[in-house]
Amino acid sequence: MSGGPSRSSVVLHAAPVSVRPVRTKTRALHRRRCFVCLDPGANEPLIYSGCGCRSDGALAHISCRAAIAARQEQRGFGAWIACQTCKQMFTGPMRFGLADALFQHACARPEDTILELMALQNLADCNCEQGRHEQGARMNRAVLEELRRIFGENDALTQFSAHRLAEKLSFLGDHAGAELIERELLAASMRARGNEHHMTLLHAEHVALGLLSQGKPNEAESMLQDIWGTRRRVMGKDDAATLLTQTFLALARIRIGDYTQVESALQDSICGLTRVLGCGHPQTRSCARHLVEFLTRIGKHTEAEVLAARFHHDS
Ligand SMILES: [Zn+2]
Ligand SMILES: [Zn+2]
Repeated sequence: MSGGPSRSSVVLHAAPVSVRPVRTKTRALHRRRCFVCLDPGANEPLIYSGCGCRSDGALAHISCRAAIAARQEQRGFGAWIACQTCKQMFTGPMRFGLADALFQHACARPEDTILELMALQNLADCNCEQGRHEQGARMNRAVLEELRRIFGENDALTQFSAHRLAEKLSFLGDHAGAELIERELLAASMRARGNEHHMTLLHAEHVALGLLSQGKPNEAESMLQDIWGTRRRVMGKDDAATLLTQTFLALARIRIGDYTQVESALQDSICGLTRVLGCGHPQTRSCARHLVEFLTRIGKHTEAEVLAARFHHDS
């Protein structure tokens, strides 16, 4: 990119990305093949994708996944980050390997500023996922400054990067810094898109979740109640986003100590998310975990064990 801080300054201190195959699965890998090229993978390790796909459908070479992602680029960057079969994010070595491959791919096309900044944002996120939060935040901040300079405050990529930085700041304990960014994003979205747009509701939810993690459950509960009401009206009560807000609202009420509707709300969320996303989806499973914890907390140990066993079987 011309005139920017760019990859040398942003990536200078990036730790190498680990792409080792999972050791315990070595023997099983022997008989298996990459689902893309059907090669058993003698020259490049076969890696589990870490998404929702099971068995052989999840096994591939990083270079094969990268080739698919590069071919699909006109449709967006999704294939670098999430499995296009099950729609879940890659995790573990496949996630890191593809982040590295995307960066190499961007380096080979220096004229493509968006590609380069997306690759750097993705590397910043990967650093955090590997526990290097300060480094990830530093990289994220540099990417955000560049996005603001080139595309402006209201660009979707700039806002995505800002949200990712807020998440990192929150993780590092800078809750005030995170809240400031999320509130700015919310205000900008309200001005540009109106109060009921799904992106505005998403930004509002980010502010509310930030308040919850700061130990302000009453403020969070009040915001989540409003967001849930709007989502039910605009998107319907069975929309995945509505069901997730319902889950967050239940969590805020647990923090406040108001247990009256928590169990039924979480049960309802689990049923809905199972219907919409499937019982193996991370968000369905996360909701089930919250209900298991809640049932245990209120002394319903048998119900908690039954629910935990039900979701354990699907893992
Ligand atoms: Zn392959
Ligand atoms: Zn998958």
